[in-house]
Amino acid sequence: MNGDTAMATEVARPHEVVIVGAGFGGLAAARGLAGAPVHVTIIDRKNHHLFQPLLYQVATAGVSPADVAVPIRSLFRNQKNATILMDTVVDVDVDAGMVRGERADHPFDTLILATGSEYSYFGHDDWRPHAPSLKSLKDALDIREKVLLAFEYAETTDDAAERERLMTFVIVGGGATGVELAGALAELAKKALARDFRHIVPREAEIILLEAGPSLLSGFPPKLTDFARRALTKLGVTVHLNTAVDQVDGYGVTLQDGRTIPAANILWAAGTRAPAVGDWLGAGTDRQGRVIVAPDLTVPGHPNIFVIGDAASYAPEGGKPVPAVAPVAKQQGAHLAKVIRDRLDAASRPRPFRYRDDGMLATIGRHAAVANLRWIKMAGWFAWMFWGLIHIYFLIGARNRMMVFVNWVWAYFTYGLGARLITRSSVMATEDKRKRERPAA
Ligand SMILES: Cc1cc2nc3c(=O)[nH]c(=O)nc-3n(C[C@H](O)[C@H](O)[C@H](O)COP(=O)(O)OP(=O)(O)OC[C@H]3O[C@@H](n4cnc5c(N)ncnc54)[C@H](O)[C@@H]3O)c2cc1C
Repeated sequence: MNGDTAMATEVARPHEVVIVGAGFGGLAAARGLAGAPVHVTIIDRKNHHLFQPLLYQVATAGVSPADVAVPIRSLFRNQKNATILMDTVVDVDVDAGMVRGERADHPFDTLILATGSEYSYFGHDDWRPHAPSLKSLKDALDIREKVLLAFEYAETTDDAAERERLMTFVIVGGGATGVELAGALAELAKKALARDFRHIVPREAEIILLEAGPSLLSGFPPKLTDFARRALTKLGVTVHLNTAVDQVDGYGVTLQDGRTIPAANILWAAGTRAPAVGDWLGAGTDRQGRVIVAPDLTVPGHPNIFVIGDAASYAPEGGKPVPAVAPVAKQQGAHLAKVIRDRLDAASRPRPFRYRDDGMLATIGRHAAVANLRWIKMAGWFAWMFWGLIHIYFLIGARNRMMVFVNWVWAYFTYGLGARLITRSSVMATEDKRKRERPAA
């Protein structure tokens, strides 16, 4: 059925827009439909919207989980045409116009799929338990626990080699998340924890950042990537470029040149993929599994189904696909809300989506950042201030903005990290015992 016709002729009930995923893209679409003569159903498997760009600070005890997440329901309290449902979508029946959830089926006239992406282990999913990645609040809390426990176990062991392994942190992937994690871990070990132990010297912790490509922060100009590398080195991070991982297990990391790094803490920040959506729709996908969408963000052959954000592969005519970043998802969501409104008005013609690229930012610890903006390139303290202001501005909710700001000011002057709590140590202790055993050669 043609989406335009369906909307124009609907009289008995409001046009039903189902949005799957209340991340950056889904939220922008739903908010853009406030007051429109449609009913919006927002389905998410989580009850909260998560500000992923600051997740690494939860993982490194800089801020608390509640400071970077907000209940989806509370965001739509005043939007009368929106209903929130917590459900995990498992399929889409395109012909029946039905989203299949684990708990219920949800009929739609227009469907927006904004389910995001997950980390890819490049065909080595068995590495995942040994090298967790950072995507959800649970991931961040698990990593925080693992990192803090590593120092606790190092403090109690008499085995020097094991102590060294416990105090070795390997981050795989030198993109923005890897760089930010490495910088934050270095500051945690070398500043925040520096005076809190009696048997170990946290400053001696080894933080290693591995990048398979020739530079960190691919997509940034060489001057800024060089700056990032120097800034990390100054913080005490060892950066290895052109270094690919061959094997990850409970004992450590083996590199493609055969070297093994014994490490109890391996964090994965390399590569993403967008599973499922392509299968649900039977649609064409790119190498990362992202659905290849038309210039108006529809799925070819389905004018009433849109895919946006990290789950979509969108390229402007004659151009390269846009990156999987928050501004793309937000702009696409806002654009779709306009398209849906336009479709309701037979006189207006929806326009294709165009991405306005304002640039990229990455921070390195709490004194430096790099900013590759459309109008200026910056590195250092001013870039870091700019990074901080932008992140506070884009955080959702006044409470979260205030809490993060207060935490940052406090940490800036004292290096005190308030969220250094271990709450599930018995589970992790069992896991740690298992991992300490060196695998048979
Ligand atoms: C650690 C980290 C740091 C990042 N830092 C930056 C940064 O500094 N700047 C930047 O621009 N970008 C950054 N990104 C990327 C950015 O967060 C993503 O590009 C953006 O979140 C994509 O938005 P989205 O709406 O497509 O998906 P998401 O924001 O990921 O939202 C997807 C939503 O869909 C829900 N969902 C998924 N599957 C289902 C299902 N089957 N059923 C129901 N619900 C489902 C999820 O629960 C989630 O709420 C970062 C990402 C990560 C992981």
